Amino acid sequence: CGIVGYVGPATPSTRPLDVAMEGLARLEYRGYDSAGVALVTPEGLATAKRAGKLANLRGALEEDPLPGATAAIGHTRWATHGGPTDTNAHPHVSEDGSLAVIHNGIIENFAALKAELLADGVTFTSETDTEVVAHLLARTMNGSADLTAAMLSVTARLEGAFTLLAVHADQPGTVVGARRNSPLVVGLGEGENFLGSDVAAFIAFTKEAMEVDQDQVVTLSADGVRVVDAAGAEVHPRRFTVDWDA
Ligand code: GLU
Repeated sequence: CGIVGYVGPATPSTRPLDVAMEGLARLEYRGYDSAGVALVTPEGLATAKRAGKLANLRGALEEDPLPGATAAIGHTRWATHGGPTDTNAHPHVSEDGSLAVIHNGIIENFAALKAELLADGVTFTSETDTEVVAHLLARTMNGSADLTAAMLSVTARLEGAFTLLAVHADQPGTVVGARRNSPLVVGLGEGENFLGSDVAAFIAFTKEAMEVDQDQVVTLSADGVRVVDAAGAEVHPRRFTVDWDA
């Protein structure tokens, strides 16, 4: 129900997690039943997720602190497919643990995609519609595509409504986002950049923003934001300044 993404400096730090947790707190007003984060760290992806309030996730992070990171994605879930459990909470991770995805919305054709993946021997760990996206992205990247190319090819197969963010351990300075019938906004910083399901996700850090349009894919790095349309052609979305106080 709420989404935040962040990419910062190449030196790993606690800031990606801090930004993600602040963003999720600012998105609490939308309502949710679970929360989770994925960090890109030098040791690979690190994730934490819990059913219930953000306090539960904070508790898990205190008990089991995550290492410093260069990028982060954070999610608050409003369950549509699969009950509000720790396992069904986002992020959802590929079988080899190298890719994580978060999702707002509903993948209407997930059952057909899941059947295809099951027939190919993929093991599912949750009951969500979202998990098919993690496996599809991972399988597409095995064909050596980068995360942006994989997102373009996978979203072409999806039906329904989605804001999706994904990270991969081999691309530590990148968060890739996509949207259809569900909002996604970029927050522009200095040496760092942000993504949010609405500007509340990053308003504590920047008021400079950019709307991602229907069926566009955004590749976020610390020093740049590249947006392409469904055909992969670069587009230049309108920039605006958020005119309310943090
Ligand atoms: N359909 C997904 C799920 O049930 C995402 C729900 C949401 O928008 O939070 O896990």
